[in-house]
Amino acid sequence: MKIKNFINGAFQEPLSKDWLDNINPAYGKVYGQTPNSSKEDIELAYQAAEKAFPSWSQTSIEKRSRILIRISELLEAQLDKFGEAESKDNGKPLSLAKTIDIPRAASNFRFYGNAITQFSSESHDSIGENAINYTLRQPLGVVGCISPWNLPLYLFTWKIAPALAAGNCVIAKPSEITPMTAYMLGELCNEAGLPKGVLNIVHGLGETTGQVLIEHPEIKAISFTGGTSTGAQIARTAAPLFKKLSLELGGKNPNIIFSDCDYESMLETTLRSSFANQGQICLCGSRIFVEASLYQKFKTDFIKKVKQLKVGHPSQESTDVGAIVSKSHLEKVLNYIEIAKTEGKILVGGNQVVIPSFKNGYYLEPTVIEVNSNNCTINQEEIFGPVVTIMPFETEEDVLKMANDSNYGLSATLWTNNLKRSMRLSHQLEAGIVWVNTWMLRDLRTPFGGTKASGVGREGGLESLRFFTKAKNVCIKY
Ligand code: NAD
Repeated sequence: MKIKNFINGAFQEPLSKDWLDNINPAYGKVYGQTPNSSKEDIELAYQAAEKAFPSWSQTSIEKRSRILIRISELLEAQLDKFGEAESKDNGKPLSLAKTIDIPRAASNFRFYGNAITQFSSESHDSIGENAINYTLRQPLGVVGCISPWNLPLYLFTWKIAPALAAGNCVIAKPSEITPMTAYMLGELCNEAGLPKGVLNIVHGLGETTGQVLIEHPEIKAISFTGGTSTGAQIARTAAPLFKKLSLELGGKNPNIIFSDCDYESMLETTLRSSFANQGQICLCGSRIFVEASLYQKFKTDFIKKVKQLKVGHPSQESTDVGAIVSKSHLEKVLNYIEIAKTEGKILVGGNQVVIPSFKNGYYLEPTVIEVNSNNCTINQEEIFGPVVTIMPFETEEDVLKMANDSNYGLSATLWTNNLKRSMRLSHQLEAGIVWVNTWMLRDLRTPFGGTKASGVGREGGLESLRFFTKAKNVCIKY
């Protein structure tokens, strides 16, 4: 099957005539083609978006809201179809795609369809003057959204929905590795009555299509989620063009376990925060620190649980760990496992899994590595696979120091029933999100993002609406 670009409300082959293979990671087999779009394709999308902007930005908030909520309803009505496509493209368990990815994509449209109706200008009397100030939040114009492969439609729509709600026109590029559900979204947008040109979806490689999108002089803002080095490259390109930037980047998140935690709940959740989506979630807790008095018990019980996880075909209900997204990513993760052999001890896993009926698929055992220091490659670099490290700690001070000893600062998880300690550490951890006694409990109203090499800016709730608008203050003397 050939995926096409969605430009000006129509599906079009790329002007570049250049195509990429789309691979199903569960089988390691090509099952379609994706455009590798060129500068001319981006320009076509830009012309459509620019033409649509005056009308869309003036469309009533009520109407914009209605269209977004309609997209969300259409997505919910096709949950199975989208879930199956996501799982096939990405290798994630079908159950995950159906319960997390697609429902969340629908929620993104519903949430911003509602949120925009509450987002308004502010006004203030000027103290001591006969004057009034008001501050408009105006849309930026044509904006670019670029997303990664790990939560394809979930993250794609987390950008598009607020951008559209705020009155912008969008050129969006999904990951070339998982383009399918973004492609399918175009049809729903037409059905929901989104005017043509308001959303344009252009497919292709980062270094070609993505780079051209960033370089376009008239695109006012870029919302990007992906790797840290890509984020740095985007910032270098965008800075001289004075583009507004939101960068959601990598993570190497600590999961800190104290002996006074609710043990069973911690164990179950730690299993999930380690291996959900094959460990390919930027929020996964890949560095597990356990208080020394609990360490041996945790190690024994955790290993037992990890051994019970079933690696298998993404569409099988019994599968806990599906396929790794691509051959090159599998090789990258295996490379880190080789490094781990010199830096620590592999307690469980570490090997590629060959499933006889799908022997070319990209499967990997969930892997736990014991380390004795945080100062090693596998604790400092993002692996982004089903691989975690564990090590003991003695004191709160020690673990705080190790947790913060990282270039990254996306999220952190704490397990303790000591209220004072949980608050003390939450405030001192260098992370954009801290979970205490839970993981990945998300509320779409709250800010999301990282510090240090994990990113610049925040998404979620009002933060995204602020990002996709510019403030203009008007002061009137009466
Ligand atoms: P990536 O940086 O390789 O690619 C992300 C997107 O950027 C893709 O669409 C890609 O085509 C595009 N791209 C690549 N080079 C580009 C360039 N020069 N100009 C413009 N666009 C370019 O990342 P990935 O491998 O797809 O995703 C994995 C990474 O994403 C991990 O580091 C993970 O932690 C991170 N991530 C972060 C968050 C977050 O919210 N902080 C969420 C999910 C994933």
